[in-house]
Parts: sequence; C-alpha cells; structure tokens
Amino acid sequence: MYMSDCIFCKIIEKKIPAKIIYEDEYALAFEDLNPQAPVHALVIPKKHIPTTLDIKEEDNNLIGHLIKVANKIASDKGIAERGFRIVTNCNPESGQTVYHIHLHVLGGRPMHWPPG
Ligand code: AMP
Ligand code: ZN
Repeated sequence: MYMSDCIFCKIIEKKIPAKIIYEDEYALAFEDLNPQAPVHALVIPKKHIPTTLDIKEEDNNLIGHLIKVANKIASDKGIAERGFRIVTNCNPESGQTVYHIHLHVLGGRPMHWPPG
C-alpha cells in the first residue's frame, strides 16, 4: 500500500515527522512545511495515488472524503465562512512536486484569481 520512496507515505507511516492535524482510517492532514498562506494544510489519502490522473472509479468515495476533511480543517481553523481555496496540482506544469495526491487547503488571507 505504501511506497518506500514517497515522502507522504513516510509521513503516513510516521517515519518522518509532520504537524498532523487530522487522521482517520483513510486520510491524513498536516501543516505544509512551506506555508503560502496563514492557513496551509495538506490533505492526503492513505492510499498511494501518484496523480489525479491515477484516480480510479473505486476511489470515488475516497476523493469525496478528502474534500470533507478539507472542509473540516477550514471550519476548525475558522476560515470556512470567510472563504478558502482547495488546490490540487497535477504533473509538472501545474507545479506538482510530490507524487502522492494531496489537497492544499489555503486561507486566512484574500486569494487572487487568476492563480499564478
Ligand atoms: P505540490 O507542489 O502541489 O506537489 O505540493 C507539495 C507540497 O508539499 C508543497 O507545498 C511542500 O511545501 C509540501 N511538503 C513537501 N514536503 C513536506 C513535508 N515533509 N512536510 C510537509 N509538507 C511538505
Ligand atoms: Zn505515497
């Protein structure tokens, strides 16, 4: 299930430290190491899925669950009503650097559009 060369799998396995803010059977959330906003958390599935292009039909519930976890983090951090952004990068031109899918949960400041 876990990939030995994947940094986020290592965080799931507690082999490297992270500031974990939520965990259940299917998902983990932790603070981004290099925050881009006052709130910047990452929500990941415990299942190793490299990119959004690798999401299968059988993962539909899991992906929905990740959004729910992102919503809960936004609520817990007090930014749900003000507004927040969920971002998922896919492949190099988007800026994806870690190939284990993750939702960025960003907020606590006004967000701009179009994104950079
Ligand atoms: P992306 O560029 O969309 O793949 O996002 C990867 C994110 O993971 C970046 O925002 C990094 O700051 C973050 N990141 C990388 N390594 C760690 C780590 N060990 N703990 C927490 N966040 C990390
Ligand atoms: Zn992984």
